[in-house]
Amino acid sequence: MPFATFGLHPDLVRATRELGFTRPTPIQEQAIPPAIAGKDVLACAMTGSGKTAAFLLPILERLRTKPRGRTRALVLAPTRELAAQIHAHLEELAVHTGVTGAAVFGGVGMAPQEHAFRSGVDVIAATPGRLLDHFRQPYARLEHLEVVVLDEADRMLDMGFLPDIRRVLKHLPTKRQTMLFSATMPAPIVELSREMLHQPVAVNLERKAAPAVGITQAVYPVPSELKAALFAELMNRGEIRQVIVFTRTKHRANRLADYLDRHAISNARIHGNRSQAQRTDALAGFKDGRYKVLVATDIVARGIDVEALGHVLNFDVPHVPEDYIHRVGRTARAEATGEAFTFVSPEEREDLQRIERAIGKRLPEVRLPGFDYAKKPAEKLEIPLADRIAAIRARKAEERARAKAKAERRDGAPQGRGGSSGGSASAGRASGGGRPGGGSGRPGSGRPAPAPGRSAPAAPSGQAGAPGAPGAPTAARRRRRRRGGSGSGAGGPPAPAR
Ligand code: ADP
Ligand code: MG
Repeated sequence: MPFATFGLHPDLVRATRELGFTRPTPIQEQAIPPAIAGKDVLACAMTGSGKTAAFLLPILERLRTKPRGRTRALVLAPTRELAAQIHAHLEELAVHTGVTGAAVFGGVGMAPQEHAFRSGVDVIAATPGRLLDHFRQPYARLEHLEVVVLDEADRMLDMGFLPDIRRVLKHLPTKRQTMLFSATMPAPIVELSREMLHQPVAVNLERKAAPAVGITQAVYPVPSELKAALFAELMNRGEIRQVIVFTRTKHRANRLADYLDRHAISNARIHGNRSQAQRTDALAGFKDGRYKVLVATDIVARGIDVEALGHVLNFDVPHVPEDYIHRVGRTARAEATGEAFTFVSPEEREDLQRIERAIGKRLPEVRLPGFDYAKKPAEKLEIPLADRIAAIRARKAEERARAKAKAERRDGAPQGRGGSSGGSASAGRASGGGRPGGGSGRPGSGRPAPAPGRSAPAAPSGQAGAPGAPGAPTAARRRRRRRGGSGSGAGGPPAPAR
């Protein structure tokens, strides 16, 4: 069955051809017709099966002939990288149509995204958090929205994201088409999703969630402390060209990446404590082959499409079977094949059994011939939590001591400024700051401690700002901040900008 049989415009069919899509995948065959008909859709299909085009093509068909300048479709995704990838796929499919799009996610500047709202790009692919930031501003109105998609829907509706999703939906017109897609759709989530769907067409919901068919899975039993050495050995034997390695925590991702650095195995790390620039470089560099190993947390477990990736390694066993299915689904995409290995320490046996029960099969166990499973590790992968906490405490104490010494140096003789500096910062803020009073602020005094007596003249402005004091910036607060910014030298801005 060719794409043209869906009644898609030749410009869209042409784009699919240029992408090398010779025929629709099964999920595309099943979801595109009801989606084009404007129906709500609740669809489950394995990882790498082309769900993105299954919802983007109907959106493009619908918007193609409409006037530009109004945002009519919104796709929500759980991570920045996935929102960016959906946007990139949209651009590929929309190339001959004139339909426009933008990605809206955190960690990068708001201004270009504001421009996208103001100019009314047709399709926005967004993460919920950043979208809500924009909704606080008057320019971000989506009153003309016609279609909403939740990609990775079960993740978007789990406890972590649900409050944000509910908030987002409040900003959208209730009369709209809603589509939910995922490779896993636990029953309680299906139940919950019915709240936001109107007579949905269900695709494949009865299917037992399982890893994609092209994935060969195996388990490596290994003591926890030998995992890094075993992985290095696997890499050194040259059987793995490129691999995403999932660790349980950001800390373990960092430690493993450091270990790989020490062993000259090319790698990049991606997790929530990295800057967006670092995250983007890691993923782009991995995709273009600059890095052999991408050490990751579950941040890239869902949706991320790395073409022809041959291997995934669960360095740690995921706690939740759904996470296992999504992680291993980074390989064997678009009908390719791939291998997914899982390192299992004795402490992780239970988690593994839960996964095996969920996917309905026992995973074969493998041992790496010639690897010394009894050896003592030369170095520890993880710094114990207690040591890390102690290090953080020590650093904080040092910072406090430094700040105190600096304050004392700055004040010279403490009595000269009218006495105590204790609690002065908050006094400065409460006083409405920024009012130079009698012009007595010392140049270069930074964020000074106005002496208690000096806060009195500022009272009128303090009063104006008082009602909104602890909350969001009120107009009075904003005015005050502007004034404070004019270089009086006394009193810093009362609160950081959001
Ligand atoms: P999913 O969301 O189901 O995990 P994606 O939408 O990310 O899968 O698609 C996985 C890969 O398959 C992408 O590289 C995409 O370009 C490709 N793809 C999608 N549809 C087709 C098709 N009909 N024929 C060939 N490849 C396709
Ligand atoms: Mg997807």
